Amino acid sequence: MRYYTLSLKGAGDKFYTYIDEKEEYSLGEQVVVPFGRGERTALIISEEKQKKYEFDLKSIKRSVEGSIRFPEPLIKLFLWIQRYYLCSFEEILSVAYPQNLKTAYSHRYIFKASIIPMDDQERDFLKYISKKCEIGKNTLVKRYGKELVEKFLAKGVIEEKKVIKQKEYPVGCQDLEYDEIDYKKVLTPEQEAVRDEIVNGKDKFYLLKGVTGSGKTEIYIDVIKDALKKGGGAIFLVPEISLTPQMIKKFRLEFADRVALLHSRLTAKERADEWHSIYRGDKNIVLGVRSAIFAPVQNLKYIIIDEEHETTYKQDSSPRYNAKYVAIKRAELEGLKVLMGSATPSVESYYHAETGVFKLLELKTRYNDARLPTLKLVDMKNESDQYFSKELLKEISNRLRKKEQILLLLNRKSYATYIQCKDCGHVEVCPNCSITMNYYRSDGKYKCNYCGYSKTYSNKCSSCGSENLSYSGKGTERIEEEVKKHFPHSRVIRVDSESVKARDSYDRIYNDFLDKKYDIMLGTQVISKGLHFPDLTLVGIISADTILSFPDFRAGEKTFQLVSQASGRAGREEKEGEVLVQSYQPDNYAIKRIIEDDYEGFYRDEIENRKILKYPPFSRIINIIISSLDESGLEEAALKYYEEIKNPKLEIYGPIKAPIYRVKERYRYQIFIKGNRSDISKAKKIFYEKSLIYKGNSIRITIDVDPINLM
Ligand SMILES: [Zn+2]
Ligand SMILES: [Zn+2]
Repeated sequence: MRYYTLSLKGAGDKFYTYIDEKEEYSLGEQVVVPFGRGERTALIISEEKQKKYEFDLKSIKRSVEGSIRFPEPLIKLFLWIQRYYLCSFEEILSVAYPQNLKTAYSHRYIFKASIIPMDDQERDFLKYISKKCEIGKNTLVKRYGKELVEKFLAKGVIEEKKVIKQKEYPVGCQDLEYDEIDYKKVLTPEQEAVRDEIVNGKDKFYLLKGVTGSGKTEIYIDVIKDALKKGGGAIFLVPEISLTPQMIKKFRLEFADRVALLHSRLTAKERADEWHSIYRGDKNIVLGVRSAIFAPVQNLKYIIIDEEHETTYKQDSSPRYNAKYVAIKRAELEGLKVLMGSATPSVESYYHAETGVFKLLELKTRYNDARLPTLKLVDMKNESDQYFSKELLKEISNRLRKKEQILLLLNRKSYATYIQCKDCGHVEVCPNCSITMNYYRSDGKYKCNYCGYSKTYSNKCSSCGSENLSYSGKGTERIEEEVKKHFPHSRVIRVDSESVKARDSYDRIYNDFLDKKYDIMLGTQVISKGLHFPDLTLVGIISADTILSFPDFRAGEKTFQLVSQASGRAGREEKEGEVLVQSYQPDNYAIKRIIEDDYEGFYRDEIENRKILKYPPFSRIINIIISSLDESGLEEAALKYYEEIKNPKLEIYGPIKAPIYRVKERYRYQIFIKGNRSDISKAKKIFYEKSLIYKGNSIRITIDVDPINLM
């Protein structure tokens, strides 16, 4: 007899103990158990050592037909996430694997024995089935009707058989012998040394710092080949799938059908299919976003995280896990290696590399000896135009004349972010959030960036009806208009999340720009990533200050990363590139280091600040939001919760109104907590337990462990 701990569907945070009398079930299996007056499906998450219980336990009834079995390390990983990120087991399952994931069966009938027919139809049936021997259920029922089929089934003429539906996979490089897999032959000695260190080194965690264009992708590919050589697989994480058409293409070329893609643009069915093919071992390389970290790759050897500094690895809703740290935990559980790559590593990762937790590897030269672009600061305080300095205009027209391409970055979409009536002073604000609505001229609408609310733009103040409106906070749409005014003959393409909505349009825009159908690409941060255009020689950062003013201790870091990434797009072949960085804060340390192209220097400044202010990596932080649809009583509730979690060992700030007080109709109070690692991890459980008291109430408490978004 065995005792198992089970997570029951719909039972929230509680686990239950059930008996496995005949010892026929195993860890990770999905089973059906009696619960109350009915039954529930459940997942076996651990075996219990204790054999004495004071009350009667019930037995597991049966296993869920066609369900898959979770590998033990994944179950352990889920349990760690639950404890670390403070969420329910079900919430983890909901992101970790496709819903309703079941093995598909096809039902077939087999001919067993003949009988004497009673009429012509029966005679025909017997003749048909004896000839076919085996046939699909639906075909037979369609031909002879349900009644007759059931009659013969009862008489033992035919027998039902269930067969697992297998998808046929085209043979490709699956047939390759592992020792036939060759490393890239074009690697530079520097790249080779890095690859060999990862493949043969004794360390578990590697941080690969390589300037844009230094060939990190080639190393990733070789590392994955090493996994294949060893008869294993790899998970390759990217920040966003739509931004990686080049990467997908490369992977397909190298690994053909062994690559599974996992991302949010798949339909539920596509996702389940991919997941199954990984689970069965048909595919052993996974390219995907955040949640692909849970892919059940058999014999996993490496997890590679590209652009490790990107904030998209952290989920912004429960479970608020960070795929980077989940990868590290998974590596510990499964004994594999993690490779994190970036041109501008996150300050925390670089600190871990400096202190020996991660092994630091560097690529210092650009591939094919392409030159690094020259960076130049433009102090906007001396300019008459807020967005286009004289120098930027001059350089744009230079490139246009030479038929070279230009990239303009402004990390703000829309036409205007702030619309105010000049007569009555009314500002257009979202009815659900305490934030101004953005105006999009392209589709004539006001939209809220936080809740998605939109309304038709009427050209009139919604308070007094005046048409005397002022538009401030220019976004990409407005800049596009101004570029066209300055350079009427240039061909401009605007790229932001509003202009790119169709499934493949980013890929198309990318190819059109590569084919030189456009002279200028203008957009938000989406254009700063992973693109490679040989004729692009000028990058203009319209405003380097958009992030700097955020109330966020990572504002400097995010600015440095964004501008450096965009700069890396300039001059990647033999043509030399130039980057113009426009800023109103030329003395800001992040802006200065950007211009000096000095990551090390930036890191030194930043880590010094963090040490003084006790921010990560010198502390752990937790952000708690107490929210309600009803403003009355909220502040009292926040104060009450604060009293309950008070802890002299921690710095607890608040409760205060959140920087954006109202989001999606909910009023929000914020409590911000700082402390050292062990104090935080001891206190965390209490934060969570106390928050559960409010569950089902109009008050909602959300706890974000290691938050990235502090708004
Ligand atoms: Zn809103
Ligand atoms: Zn007005």
